[in-house]
Amino acid sequence: MIVLCANRLYTPQEEIQNPLIFIEDGLISAISSRAQQEVPKNAKVIDLTGNDLTGNDLTGNDLTGDDPTGHLGEAILAPGFVDIHMHGGAGLDVMRATPADLPNLNKFLTTHGVTGYFPTTVAAPLDQTCVALERLADAIEAAQDSAAVNGGAVPLGIHLEGPFLSHKRRGVHPPEYLVEPTLAIFERLWQAARGHVRMMTIAPELPGALEVIVEAVRRKVLVSIGHSDAVLEAARAGVRAGARHATHTFNAMRPLDHRDPGILAEVLTDGHLTADIIVDGIHVAPEVVQLFLQAKGLERAVLITDATAAAGMPDGAYQLGPIQVEVKNGRCTMDGKLAGSVLTMDRAVRNVTQFAGWSLQDAIRAATLNPTRAVGLTQHGHLAPGAEANIVALSPNGEVRQTFVRGRAVS
Ligand SMILES: [Zn+2]
Repeated sequence: MIVLCANRLYTPQEEIQNPLIFIEDGLISAISSRAQQEVPKNAKVIDLTGNDLTGNDLTGNDLTGDDPTGHLGEAILAPGFVDIHMHGGAGLDVMRATPADLPNLNKFLTTHGVTGYFPTTVAAPLDQTCVALERLADAIEAAQDSAAVNGGAVPLGIHLEGPFLSHKRRGVHPPEYLVEPTLAIFERLWQAARGHVRMMTIAPELPGALEVIVEAVRRKVLVSIGHSDAVLEAARAGVRAGARHATHTFNAMRPLDHRDPGILAEVLTDGHLTADIIVDGIHVAPEVVQLFLQAKGLERAVLITDATAAAGMPDGAYQLGPIQVEVKNGRCTMDGKLAGSVLTMDRAVRNVTQFAGWSLQDAIRAATLNPTRAVGLTQHGHLAPGAEANIVALSPNGEVRQTFVRGRAVS
């Protein structure tokens, strides 16, 4: 048994002072506090408070590297972040990465507090997409075996961003690879991914979209409206067909007009919909992030990174599926259009506290419980008995100290 000690814990809905998390076989077996429970003598204790509870440093980890005084300050435990929209990082693109590459990406993600993610496709030639989906399905199945994880973040399902997107709001998805939704194409993608598609972004106004939405929902895919030029009624039709989420709200969407409200009015006002947003300060102005958070509230706002291979890398040229993107001063573009981000999830969480004055606890919720509830991942995104021990230890200002995947520390 492993016991984690810290100064505070966010489940994330509840706060616990001086928490203890008990971990057995990679799962949380109990959560308590030092006021309620002693640390068992035979447990391996990982003390993140900087106080030595046992007289030994049992972790063997040097947690003091960022602080030359050796004084750690407070440590806050939270669920590991779950990013349901990311294309890569650390120089790797998820559609191109080989099985040998993925551990580097997974390790990189944990340095930013991410313990689970949805590798996300972009529009590409259908046969290339199918090859990528097969490889991602292999990675997801391999990661289900906890021995294969090696402490990195875990790919939990696939997000199909395209090919069923609006030409008018395609962003940088290549127009030649966009297709009208049909059940046959959806079935082909589904088969290639061996059923691991958990989320799909689709423009609901496209001919054939509603039929594909109904079928995807029947297969328990979270259908997200986005890359869309839908007028209000078309967006509502998508929701009636079963769509329950919106993809990078404001970006690649018909803009909000007070007399022609369109898809954005549906996304911002419908209490049945969760919605995600890229809070890097580049994709959406901080004031509009604030407006979004007020509209979707504590329970329905979701943070994503939409990160590309360029995340965590210096300025330069990087691959995003079939296209090449340019990164300069934190902006990831192709021909002057924004093309994903270099955002990391810990930064997104800190930005929410700064842009909107949300507490760290509330911002964490938008990166953990809200996305996992939206996609139906019950063992992720919250700290509770029975959940996977995917945990991030943060400083009070949201800097990542240490990440644990299935109870194992990753530095
Ligand atoms: Zn994307």
